[in-house]
Amino acid sequence: MTFSLHGLPVARGVAIGRAVLMASSRVEVAHYFIKPERIASEIDRLRSGRNAVIDELHRLQLSVAQMGPNDAPHELSAMLDVHLMLLQDEALTSGVKHWITDRLYNAEWALTTQLEIIARQFDEMEDEYLRERKADLEQVVERILRYMKGVASPVAPPTTPRRKTQQDLLLDDTVDVPLVLIAHDLSPADMLQFKQSVFAGFVTDVGGKTSHTAIVARSMDIPAVVGARAASQVVRQDDWVIIDGDAGVVIVDPSAIILAEYGFKQRQGELERERLARLRHTPAITLDGERIELLANIEMPDDAPGAFKAGAAGVGLFRSEFLFMGRQGHLPDEEEQYQAYRRAVLGMEGLPVTIRTVDVGADKPLDRATKDEAHLNPALGLRAIRWSLADPAMFRTQLRAILRAAVHGPVNLLIPMLAHGSEIRQTLSLIDFARAELDNRGVAHGAVHLGAMIEVPAAALMVRMFLRYFDFLSIGTNDLIQYTLAIDRADESVAHLYDPLHPAVLRLLADTIAECRAQGKGVSVCGEMAGDVQFTRLLLGLGLRSFSMHPAQILAVKQEVLRADAGKLAAWAQQVLSTEDPAALLLAKG
Ligand code: PEP
Ligand code: MG
Repeated sequence: MTFSLHGLPVARGVAIGRAVLMASSRVEVAHYFIKPERIASEIDRLRSGRNAVIDELHRLQLSVAQMGPNDAPHELSAMLDVHLMLLQDEALTSGVKHWITDRLYNAEWALTTQLEIIARQFDEMEDEYLRERKADLEQVVERILRYMKGVASPVAPPTTPRRKTQQDLLLDDTVDVPLVLIAHDLSPADMLQFKQSVFAGFVTDVGGKTSHTAIVARSMDIPAVVGARAASQVVRQDDWVIIDGDAGVVIVDPSAIILAEYGFKQRQGELERERLARLRHTPAITLDGERIELLANIEMPDDAPGAFKAGAAGVGLFRSEFLFMGRQGHLPDEEEQYQAYRRAVLGMEGLPVTIRTVDVGADKPLDRATKDEAHLNPALGLRAIRWSLADPAMFRTQLRAILRAAVHGPVNLLIPMLAHGSEIRQTLSLIDFARAELDNRGVAHGAVHLGAMIEVPAAALMVRMFLRYFDFLSIGTNDLIQYTLAIDRADESVAHLYDPLHPAVLRLLADTIAECRAQGKGVSVCGEMAGDVQFTRLLLGLGLRSFSMHPAQILAVKQEVLRADAGKLAAWAQQVLSTEDPAALLLAKG
């Protein structure tokens, strides 16, 4: 039966595919297809993992038997019995084999897929004791996954997500259909892993429009919906699903008519992309001759060549924290970071690269399993520059790596979330210290332009002070909106109040841009507003001439720029600034 779910649109376009429910396993699981000739060896890999766990549990059983009744509680041996029974259960083993043999999933993916199916059956059980066995099953599967982690698959994961049209789907309903991921939540580290994966779109129960999960989805340029509440509860493994990333709608088990309608929309989207692609080499100049700089936001060094190809004039924001995530606490050392920044610089072929120092914390935990539950308000806590200044040795390591990369091309060094003069001074002296360390070691380093992000209202109100220290400013509207309006950007329950057009937000933006221009200093916006075409004219009217966004958004924003008259927009923007309801004026203009 067809039904729909509503969430927040975060990444454009339509995806149609079969649902893959992400199991709540705490072990990272790769998702890729294997070649048919690998089926037997993949099943073998799984069998060895399972047998290793069975052996381990048998050994544990033996040692429990050797303990006295006071040392080994009865529950322990009962739990081992249950785990052994679950491991040998036919529903688990035959189900997993099905996903490997018929769908060509790699073994870990097959195992977690089957886990999700059985876990739901447990959830539906009347008997409370049986219902609670779900946790045992999850533990057993996790043990197998951990064993298998040491036994890598012989097949490399494919690197591109697959986009298929509805026409393809009707012709081909076997193994080679697009897959869409449905999960309760995905951390930015999970998302990064999915950059290498096979999914054509995704849906999460939680998350806001500018949560980092949504941002990574946008950077992958695949349709996505977040904040779809109960999606992971009501969608079943393998259901057909349409994700409408423009409207924020998820349609489950669509009828043939709905499929045809969305197939049409999908083709329209493809045509629009092809049309925009023709603008790639057109300079971004307004009708009245203002040259506009369109820069790229990237997460990994290997995103740089894509940004260059998309026609970016440089990288306006390299979110370096993605190099630090998912590493179980082993942070990248100076050499590894240097190589990564160098790759990004070389990938941009002489265009400037703005490397932002690490911005972890809040909804960007270092590891997916370490969501910050220890602090009541992680977004107001030890994140971004505060985190860096709390560990000066780690910070200097990053600074040295960035300064070294500046030998290979123009680099801007950007500091996130500054609010205090003391933080600025501490940061600058650590940069000097890092330079001196490199000099002492006789290691080459290059000059950098220094920039600060304006993300906290306190910073926006103190722009003059900031400009005494920095060469340029970059406005992080995602956080500036969050902190000005006191709205958690990752919380879907207050997403309706997260308003880029709130007069207070616009006032901070306008004043920051105006002050930078008055002093002849560079200013750009690198939050999600910069890549959203509904705000392009307003930002131009406020005097912004540098926008940084996901490479996939550059051409659509360029189209807006080409149609704009910056002079006329300046007068209109002043009206927008003075009204109580800027959204109404914005709509009237459109
Ligand atoms: C911002 O806050 O607007 C920004 C660009 O930084 P991030 O989204 O990574 O917090
Ligand atoms: Mg930010």
